[in-house]
Amino acid sequence: MTETPSTCPYCGIGCGVLIEHDGQRITGVRGDPDHPANAGRLCTKGATLHLTAADSVQRQTRLLAPMQRTRRGNAPHTVDWDSALDNAAERLAAIHQRDGADAIGVYVSGQLLTEDYYVFNKLVKGLLGTNHIDTNSRLCMSSAVAGYKATLGADAPPCSYEDFAHADTVFITGSNLAWAHPILMRRLEDARRARPQQKWIVADPRRTETAALADLHLALKPGSDVALYHGLLHLLLAQGLTDAAYIAAHTTGFEALAERVRAFPPAETARLTGLAEADLRTAARWFGESPATLSLYCQGLNQSASGTDKNAALINLHLATGQIGRPGAGPFSLTGQPNAMGGREVGGLANLLSAHRDLANPAHRAEVARLWGVPSVPTTPGRTAMEMFQAAADGAVKALWIVCTNPAQSLPDQAMVRRALERAEFVIVQEAFATTATCAYADLLLPATTWGEKNGTVTNSERRISRVRPAVPPAGQARHDWAIATDLARRLAARIAPERIALFPYTTPESIWNEHRDSTRGRDLDITGLSYARLEAQGPQQWPCPEGAAAGRSRLYADGVFPTADGRARFADVAPSPLAEAPDAEYPFSLLTGRLRDQWHGMSRTGLLGRLYGHEGLPAIDLAPADLARLGLQDGDLVRVASRRGAIVLPARASEGLPPGQAFLPMHWGQEVLSGQDAQGQPLTGVNALTTPAFCPTSKQPELKHAAVAIAPV
Ligand code: SF4
Repeated sequence: MTETPSTCPYCGIGCGVLIEHDGQRITGVRGDPDHPANAGRLCTKGATLHLTAADSVQRQTRLLAPMQRTRRGNAPHTVDWDSALDNAAERLAAIHQRDGADAIGVYVSGQLLTEDYYVFNKLVKGLLGTNHIDTNSRLCMSSAVAGYKATLGADAPPCSYEDFAHADTVFITGSNLAWAHPILMRRLEDARRARPQQKWIVADPRRTETAALADLHLALKPGSDVALYHGLLHLLLAQGLTDAAYIAAHTTGFEALAERVRAFPPAETARLTGLAEADLRTAARWFGESPATLSLYCQGLNQSASGTDKNAALINLHLATGQIGRPGAGPFSLTGQPNAMGGREVGGLANLLSAHRDLANPAHRAEVARLWGVPSVPTTPGRTAMEMFQAAADGAVKALWIVCTNPAQSLPDQAMVRRALERAEFVIVQEAFATTATCAYADLLLPATTWGEKNGTVTNSERRISRVRPAVPPAGQARHDWAIATDLARRLAARIAPERIALFPYTTPESIWNEHRDSTRGRDLDITGLSYARLEAQGPQQWPCPEGAAAGRSRLYADGVFPTADGRARFADVAPSPLAEAPDAEYPFSLLTGRLRDQWHGMSRTGLLGRLYGHEGLPAIDLAPADLARLGLQDGDLVRVASRRGAIVLPARASEGLPPGQAFLPMHWGQEVLSGQDAQGQPLTGVNALTTPAFCPTSKQPELKHAAVAIAPV
């Protein structure tokens, strides 16, 4: 048996794994003791990865050959790769010529490797001539990106996991770390054991497992995050706990914000957030008096129609107190997906360009055009995830190429998404698994490699780049995502722009990596010093790491200089916004969504293993015991949960962790176990039968975390 080092393909912690195999079959997995992210630990999901690669599972679930449907609704039939790719190129070229480049939308995934992402981004922006490429990272991290850029000037998390060990106060807000990022929770527990004075504040409407471990739980009203942060800043100012010298030397815009937070005294903040004044005062004191305060945050802030403002208002607290750029201090956004960071780095979103360049900046567009050897790159921002599917539902987008993601389950407002998939003239689904809900809509299915087979790199939450290595050959006829994109790009170029075939010379992931890292030269994320050879020799490295650097940088902004025009960070003077859909008389409950400990996203992989149902075996909606009693329900009784967009039926369950008026439903359950209907009786899947398509006007990230629902006994 051999062990091949790689990474876990689930969450953005990016744990290192050692894959045990005989060259043909994966036989085991263990945590890589040498990987800095996890030092050998794995959670239940990572520790069972090898079981998802078992032959019996693969035979039942993998897409093993290209398949084509002659008519929607018919069973697909197998075709050879040449026919499949020629068909795809022919149909995409025809739509390109008839309806223009903007009629094609490419929807990719934070689970792709950086090399895959790079080729797709270049294909869309450098060959098709549109910016209509977006990613499921839009659902995950785009508010964090926009929040960092609005305040610190660049999309760069300033902290590292090692900061956990140096923090005196840890403010966990909008994250159930214990379930969503279990290995970081273990690391935080280690930190508190070694540093007993470390205080944890958790802000979350629910009393989650994370909140239960906190020294102070702030059970704020859903959506009141900005009011909480403004109220804390009011108290920090009143108690003299802001850092006037830091504000004067390194920031701009504090006066306007200070004026705004005058309107958030403790009594008013308590009214807006539902919190006790005494708890607000304690939180402000712990935040401001602590030698080092670290904020950890995730989807509770990001998946909101005001997600950018929530991120920015939290970062305000760090700038106002100088809690940034020092060991144990800073605003640290935790990444949901394994390579949401890598996708941002290559610019694989509708509003970004390679290496953190901005689409709106003519100099940046010219740099990318020069790097790629094309006359120009398109100027108009592309459609983001929800906009792309809405445009397909409206008939403006004719072709959808969906890669390594399952929008028929994971996007909000499933009724609209299904209309989009049905109306689109040509749908390509490039996938490892034949079992996802989106596969049913595909005209063409392209089999892709997956964990244990793929080769490339990923970047985790702390800007650390790891090599992903193959242990076994691709299953069946599956090909690597970058190779499918390269092959199809060449065939497409031959039809629409033959001079651009040369844009896609790649024969290995390393050749793509080298082009990508060259594009980062002089940028904030400069990784010109990170060759595959160096990653091989020295292991995972953090960016930036330019040529000649002895190592990557673990902490940013230690010098107080920020990547803005004047070198100063900017306070964000933002006003609290209401929920996109506040509860009312017709839909009186606040439905909150979130993760389970042992499942991942739409369960296409974790849902294959019986042992991962041991923690939560079936879907249920959690309600406060008082609400259960008021509705005349016993634990386990079936209820109909309805929003303005659809309805589902499932058991209700009492939860002491929820206040009356709130309900909680995990995001994972799919069509096999949690089906629903739209208003016309058409079938829908899972929690997104209910969720709202409303999104943040800046980040375009949808409000997946909250919807107003009605709940009634069945
Ligand atoms: Fe680590 Fe996340 Fe994978 Fe668990 S799911 S092993 S915490 S990367």
